[in-house]
Parts: sequence; structure tokens; C-alpha cells
Amino acid sequence: MKLARFAANGTIRIGRIDQTETSIAPILGVNDMFDAIERIDEIRAAGGGDVQACSLADVTLLAPIAVPRRNVFCVGKNYRDHAREFSNSGYEAGAVKGAEIDSHPAVFTKPASTVVGPNDVVQLHAHITSSVDYEAELALIIGKEGRDIKPECAYDHIFGYTIVNDVTARDRQRNHKQWFLGKALDTFCPMGPWIVTSDELDPENLDVKCWVNGELRQNANTRDLIFNIPTLVSTISAGLTLKPGDIIATGTPAGVGLGFDPPRFLRTGDTVSVSISHLGTLTNTFQ
Ligand code: MG
Repeated sequence: MKLARFAANGTIRIGRIDQTETSIAPILGVNDMFDAIERIDEIRAAGGGDVQACSLADVTLLAPIAVPRRNVFCVGKNYRDHAREFSNSGYEAGAVKGAEIDSHPAVFTKPASTVVGPNDVVQLHAHITSSVDYEAELALIIGKEGRDIKPECAYDHIFGYTIVNDVTARDRQRNHKQWFLGKALDTFCPMGPWIVTSDELDPENLDVKCWVNGELRQNANTRDLIFNIPTLVSTISAGLTLKPGDIIATGTPAGVGLGFDPPRFLRTGDTVSVSISHLGTLTNTFQ
């Protein structure tokens, strides 16, 4: 099931997108995505979408989760080629030659306030950074609470998947040692365009692509994740209760702006589009 949060005629709703991705049927009585996650069995039983569908072209898709209840969990350096391009770029604080690949996942967070939706403008914050970069990523949405989740049980806890662009100010990421300030600026977490429930795809075999102004920059497959999804869920949930609606972004492949010589950071008017198999395309303009 494809679930989206959308605005039409001044009202924000949750709806189900049809298989051809041309229409959306509002699900009455479901107020937000947390509600949809909690009541997904009831929604399925009802056939999902209670009233007449309208054309997707007539609505505005919004971030599937408007304001996450907690920070967005993110994983760094989780594709080999990207880990190398990052370590060699001069933007990784404390980078050690020959130790580009981590033995344990690097986990950080972005504040919930960073989230914006499809087609929203991402701010370049030119007064504090000159090195804003894109990172195309598969993100998973937790559906069932759990702590100390074993890898073999991880998928039981996942509700679905969406796209995240883990936008990053590289100078702040480097200068402040820890990554948080470089990852936390307002509008730095575009998300969407919808959530696909976990029964509809194989997350370990999805193409991840990113274009800047139509130029293909990133092109990889989630089968190449260094730490796979069960490992990430198990690692993050060790002693930390994951809750429904929590988001985990799984890391970005090679091809980000810092990987070029000289780096190709984003400029006013640039458009970044991220596509992942079955998950649609997330497009944002930077200003
Ligand atoms: Mg990232």
C-alpha cells in the first residue's frame, strides 16, 4: 500500500495512492501517519481509501510524517565508495587513511524540525555555510515498538519505506567534529513523496538514484549497503526503544558533491531529484 499525506482544498489528509500512481483516495478518520501506522490492519480490511479518489495532479503531496516525534536516525558511511570519497574529501573530521570503512555503523540524528516535503524549497543558509550537499537515501519507518531487536526479527518492526535527502552543510559537519550541526539546519530533511508498506518491496534490492539539474550524480543499489537493514535496526535498538513512526535513513551512496574535485556543492536555483525503486521521486529546489 502506498500511503501519502496530502493537501487538497485547504485540508490535509492521509490517502492511499493507486497502483498506477495517478490517483489518491483519502482515508476518512485517519488524522496523520502515526494514526495510519497504528490502524493499518483496519485500513487494509476496509480496502484503504473510503471515498472517491481524486487525481494526484490535483493535490499537493506533503512530507509523509509532518513532524517526527523524535529525531530522524541516520547512518553515515554505509556504502563503500561513498565512505572512501568522504574520507578522501577533506571534509571528514579525524579521517584516517586506510580506515575508511567503519567496523560499526556510524549513527547520528537530524532534528525533527528539519523535515520538509516533496517540492518544498530547501534553504541554502548562505550566511553560515557555503557547502550544502545532497545525500539520496532509503529510509525505513518503524511500525512496531521494540528494544534489543534481533536482526532476524528486524523486518517484523518495519512499517514501510520512503525517500530522504540527508542534506548536509559540509563545512559545519567538518568544523564541529560531530555531524549534528551540519545535518540539522531548517529544511535539511526532504522526505517523501509517500510511504510504501513493507509487504510491497524488497528493501535489499532497490535502485537509488539522484540527479542535480537533470545530471545523474548517484546511482547505486541497496544490496551494496555495508550494514544491512536488520543490522541497523538491531544496532540502533540495542538498549534504545524504537517506536512506531521512528525513521531510520540508511546512508547515501557515492556521487555526492564533495566527491568531485573541486567539490560541486549546491547553488541557488539547483533542483535535486532522488528516485528509489517503487518509492517514486522526491524533488526539491534549493534557494
Ligand atoms: Mg546521510
